[in-house]
Amino acid sequence: MSVKKMDKPNDGIKCIVNTCEYYMNGDHCTAEKINVEPRNANQSDETDCATFAPKDHAY
Ligand code: SF4
Repeated sequence: MSVKKMDKPNDGIKCIVNTCEYYMNGDHCTAEKINVEPRNANQSDETDCATFAPKDHAY
């Protein structure tokens, strides 16, 4: 499911994934909302942003 891409950063999120369609310079995310997975993770490096989409993703 695609998430709305805003024309400004989502101030609640810092993200360094510069290959993502939603990434904005300065380590910002422009997604209106993000989904983080998986359930039952035990440490932070087991979690991922499921909203990630490659930069050339067509909407
Ligand atoms: S959608 Fe996820 S991976 Fe992409 S910029 Fe936002 S937080 Fe980072």
